[in-house]
Amino acid sequence: AKQRGKGNWVRYHDGMEQPVLAHAQIGGELRRALDAGEFRVHYQPLMDLATGRVVGVEPLVRWEHPTRGLVPPGEFVPAAEGTGLIVPLGRFVLRESCRQAAAWLAEFGPACMQKLGPNVSVRQLHDPDFVADVRAALADTGLPADRLVLELTESAVLRGPQVSRTLHELHEMGVRLALDDFGTGESSLSLLRSFPASIIKLDKSFVDGIELDEMGTPEAEARQAVARAVIQLAGALGLDTVAEGIENQEQADRLMRLGYTLGQGYHLARPMPAEAMTRLLAARAGL
Ligand code: C2E
Ligand code: CA
Ligand code: CA
Ligand code: CA
Repeated sequence: AKQRGKGNWVRYHDGMEQPVLAHAQIGGELRRALDAGEFRVHYQPLMDLATGRVVGVEPLVRWEHPTRGLVPPGEFVPAAEGTGLIVPLGRFVLRESCRQAAAWLAEFGPACMQKLGPNVSVRQLHDPDFVADVRAALADTGLPADRLVLELTESAVLRGPQVSRTLHELHEMGVRLALDDFGTGESSLSLLRSFPASIIKLDKSFVDGIELDEMGTPEAEARQAVARAVIQLAGALGLDTVAEGIENQEQADRLMRLGYTLGQGYHLARPMPAEAMTRLLAARAGL
């Protein structure tokens, strides 16, 4: 661990993926940042793999820190979850992205904004005001409920009756749910029986190296087998799929051959500020 800046920042090196900023110290700092309006929402498009059409966006939060520059969510979302600040922060991302998606919907039409997929953490699902917040965000911004696809991870969903009631209320409102990072949890399959998901997002770890099967490595074959199983499962259950973390055309080609039609990844487009996303939508609107 190493001290940075004024001594507030503790950065861990050497393969430690975990909290880059110490939770206790960061709590007050995140609160201040939220009040000061330092959080930004960037957007990564979901695209049709065959045509390059944009079909939706995933809003991804960033922290524009006065001295450290743009801080990625991996460095503060865990602390925000730990301190509970993820509740107001998530509310901000939800409202801001609904407002933005409603504007894009009005300007570029429904085909390019079929899915707005904000990430929702387990703390938000446990917040008794969450359903009311979602309802208000939609009402205030005019975004139709059927455009919103909340992205949840398995660990967030596997939490008893309160969460399951919340999910069913959202479902009743017409809001859709996506199961994020699919395949990385311990009970993805059994979860699908009880969870009212509309979309499965195949985790990047199954896309990494999926194109390398020419060598016939067991690892690449296993990834392909998972990717194939997920799309068959989704088909059987009537769910849509999105493949995440596509970094080259070979991966996109392989996924299309397996039956995937939608994808997300640096090869297609990196997350970008709203203004850049507006330009991308304008350029692709005529496709
Ligand atoms: P996620 O929900 O799985 O989001 C996808 C992450 O993968 C994003 O990282 C995105 O920039 C990155 N990514 C997309 N395509 C590629 C690719 O081709 N290659 C690689 N290597 N990475 C790619 P980001 O923005 O750093 O976000 C990381 C995680 O932080 C997200 O993972 C999500 O779990 C969390 N997060 C981000 N924004 C929010 C938020 O507003 N609320 C909550 N609760 N969590 C958030
Ligand atoms: Ca996500
Ligand atoms: Ca994901
Ligand atoms: Ca992830």
